[in-house]
Amino acid sequence: ASRFGVVQQGPPIEVFALNKAFLDDTFENKVNLGVGAYRTEEGKPWVLPVVRQVERDMAANETLNHEYLPVLGLDSFSAAATKMLLGSNVAIDEGRAFGIQTLSGTGALRVGAEFLARQLGYKTFYFSQPTWENHRLLFLNAGFNDPREYRYWDQNKRGLDFDGMIADLKNAPENSVIILHACAHNPTGSDPTQEQWKEIANVMKEKKLFPFLDCAYQGFASGDLEKDAWASRFFVEQGFELFVAQSFAKNFGLYNERVGNLTVVMSSKEAIAPVKSQLTLLVRGMYSNPPNHGGRIVSTVLNDPKLFEEWKTCIKTMADRILLMRDSLRNKLLELKTPGTWDHITQQIGMFSYTGLTTKQVEHLVNVYHIYLLKSGRINMCGLTTKNVEYVAKAIHDAVTK
Ligand code: PMP
Repeated sequence: ASRFGVVQQGPPIEVFALNKAFLDDTFENKVNLGVGAYRTEEGKPWVLPVVRQVERDMAANETLNHEYLPVLGLDSFSAAATKMLLGSNVAIDEGRAFGIQTLSGTGALRVGAEFLARQLGYKTFYFSQPTWENHRLLFLNAGFNDPREYRYWDQNKRGLDFDGMIADLKNAPENSVIILHACAHNPTGSDPTQEQWKEIANVMKEKKLFPFLDCAYQGFASGDLEKDAWASRFFVEQGFELFVAQSFAKNFGLYNERVGNLTVVMSSKEAIAPVKSQLTLLVRGMYSNPPNHGGRIVSTVLNDPKLFEEWKTCIKTMADRILLMRDSLRNKLLELKTPGTWDHITQQIGMFSYTGLTTKQVEHLVNVYHIYLLKSGRINMCGLTTKNVEYVAKAIHDAVTK
């Protein structure tokens, strides 16, 4: 008998299992609305032209090598990433903000959470109901042991349950870590308004809660880097000490290169050296140092005005295609007179729409139409194309009316 016989089978991870089921499906008109990645109008992954160009230059550059990066990554990358997030900001001017390169957004969340658990002894964290399915597991694995939810989604309104959210934050114990989606909330696509963010910040300040912003979609959400950074910048201007996890998976299309940044903002610059030293030990004992390839690409683009402009047109292309698909899906459902309201499809932002479809309706779409989506009814708008949107709309109509 194996010593591993004691190990229990764990549950599958829904989004990966769904993707596999899609790939194994031989039906010609199958549609993948599950996976969290950009797809072109042809349904294909997209390597941004500006990324291809930088990669070609890197391949031809014989002075580059494969030496280790420092434990906290490439400085030129993390400084540019921090600046892209915070803009020209008082915390940067006063030298009390810095970034470290991490293994994409997940790695930034993990390093940040583990730091808070080990160094500050924080144990309680709050995530939105619903949220990205990895927040809970990630914080528990990082050493937190008191997971709690704050209300976020109102199924009847198909929008934010703002009063519920505020009430739950008001009840949170001091020093709870509150995970906030900086823009384009996953999975609901519904963000607080600026007025609502102000109220959230007031409550968090009063209750001494720690904001950990998760910024996985800057630029990708609205097509505008500044707009998508509004909430993060606002919290910094309000004087919070905070962490922000940045991912370059979506906005650079660098999913598997694992490029991320943990931005740290503190109220005094004296704390920087000790905090950096502890982050260094944490990363050293976890994965020693990050990979270079993706970080160098992002650094090259963010630090070169011409490449930066080119990249901005790429994110605009992606954001615009998503907006177009939101419009088309809503219009088709209106044409079909599908019962219910569908305005939320165009009101929600980012890659995802929380359709409000029930688990049974979702099963119908998967089993009868080979349209793959999460049980929660979340769809990735990029899975839609001008060629399949009608098929999807008719299938939704059938699922809703049958
Ligand atoms: N947070 C949210 C809300 C996300 O949607 C994602 C991507 N699915 C991430 C973090 C992190 O992804 P990655 O580690 O690939 O950057």
